[in-house]
Amino acid sequence: MRTTATVSLKSRHLIDFCRTLTLDGDISDEDAWELGNFLNENPELCDEWPGNELLTLISKIFENSSVSESELKQLASKISLIENEFKIYNNEQIAKLIESSQKYDCILPSINKIVAIKSYSNPDESYSVNLSDSSCSCSDWYSQRRHFPPNSLNRCCKHIAYALLKNKKDFAYPEWLKNLIDECINSKKGLNPKSKWTIITIKNNPVIVSSGNSDWINVYVNSDGYFSKFEYNIKEQVWSYGMRPYYFATIKTALGIK
Ligand SMILES: [Zn+2]
Repeated sequence: MRTTATVSLKSRHLIDFCRTLTLDGDISDEDAWELGNFLNENPELCDEWPGNELLTLISKIFENSSVSESELKQLASKISLIENEFKIYNNEQIAKLIESSQKYDCILPSINKIVAIKSYSNPDESYSVNLSDSSCSCSDWYSQRRHFPPNSLNRCCKHIAYALLKNKKDFAYPEWLKNLIDECINSKKGLNPKSKWTIITIKNNPVIVSSGNSDWINVYVNSDGYFSKFEYNIKEQVWSYGMRPYYFATIKTALGIK
């Protein structure tokens, strides 16, 4: 069996890439082109498994000008063989990857400051944000957020997000917090007060998960230095647009979901 110990990180990305191609259960000639391009752009992958085997097959497929149905079937079955051969993680490896989450507190920073934030809808009006306990004088905060513990994420109305943004130069916010603030600013909304927030640590990086009443959960994860949001449907067991974070299998195990 091939495992993470014997397959390089780059080749694991290749396997992940193949998975996204076969997600819809079918492989098209565009998928085959994409895979060919991916191998072309990363020639070092073709010297090792599974890139070498894929390259042989892809070259054969594109030898003649047209791609036949049976060639695509061959490619699909090759990819599924590769996936079967490569078991991403065994349970012991997963346990090692998941560490205690105590290192990170998933709360808003307590800053001894009161900030006035102008109302969007009425420029004559402004709200008073107290950043020491994350409170705000707006009706959204009073109606849906004030009963949450001080500085919890559910207290973050859009004015609190603005107040935090205004003060970001003076304080070193963690990356995940910057990402959540940006999301509030872009959507002109506070964080969903009905969400339940969970923080887990995988490979020394915090992964923030928010779940609400729907089947979708949001997974905020550090990839290549930036925090990105991924969405996963627990019921259908699919990632939105087929986009999955690294260590997605570990993340699901840590959360106890399938
Ligand atoms: Zn507010």
